[in-house]
Amino acid sequence: MIRIAVKDLSFSYRPGEEVLKGITLEFDGRSTAIVGQNGSGKTTFAKLLKGLLKPTRGEISILGRPANQMTAAALAPYIGLVFQNPNDQIFKSTVLDEVMFGPLNIGEDLERAKEKARQALEMVGLGDRAAENPQDLGLSEKKRVCIASIVAMEPEILILDEPTIAQDHAGVAIVRRVIGELKERGKLVMAILHDMDFVAGNFERVIVFHRGTVLADGNPREIFSRRELLERTGLEAPHITRLGWSLGRRETYLTEAEFIQAMRM
Ligand code: ADP
Repeated sequence: MIRIAVKDLSFSYRPGEEVLKGITLEFDGRSTAIVGQNGSGKTTFAKLLKGLLKPTRGEISILGRPANQMTAAALAPYIGLVFQNPNDQIFKSTVLDEVMFGPLNIGEDLERAKEKARQALEMVGLGDRAAENPQDLGLSEKKRVCIASIVAMEPEILILDEPTIAQDHAGVAIVRRVIGELKERGKLVMAILHDMDFVAGNFERVIVFHRGTVLADGNPREIFSRRELLERTGLEAPHITRLGWSLGRRETYLTEAEFIQAMRM
């Protein structure tokens, strides 16, 4: 099932300076990482899908609805966006209120909103921080509060802008688990990422943005096998892939398990 269809999408912040140039893409249920150099248009693309910006040209359809003229608020039950910088998203004085705000805003009653918020906070490992002021939390926790805020609304589509940013090892493991759980629930999970190890281990599809266009689109093995593509776009292959190459292997390993298996042979 196609959940998002984008046709000939272009966008300019300033006349004559297109930051997205005629992008045509479809998104089914596969978890998708959007990667590419800084300034290639990834965040702009996410904001367009979420209705925070309006296309200069082109069509966007979200779950079969023509979304071009829908506001971000009207799209909220269907698509959620976790901003890169948590400080752009957080505005309530307790963690629980912050996470309840979304469900309340899309019409859940108080009890139900509270329940969904508590579940979402458990999921991101912050079940015991509900009463705290989000401003007192570290960046890593703030980011996970923002993820919980979107998860609590249970949209069909979730876009996470740099979900692993500021996360330590334990935080990354939590984000990995959250993404896995959302996939199990049948959600379309999209994420903008710079951490290629995380991309290789957690996503079924990788889309490479380059100067406002889509330069490549495939599964992680296809993308990370293309060394000339990686060089051209300044992307680094996953650590385990590079280790294999440095040992003279031609295969593209994506996980440690694959690597170890190959070394045994
Ligand atoms: P990415 O997420 O890939 O780093 P962005 O979508 O943030 O890329 O940015 C794409 C281009 O648009 C960059 O050249 C950036 O400088 C420009 N840009 C981003 N936000 C704005 C803005 N609010 N006003 C003007 N230009 C912007």
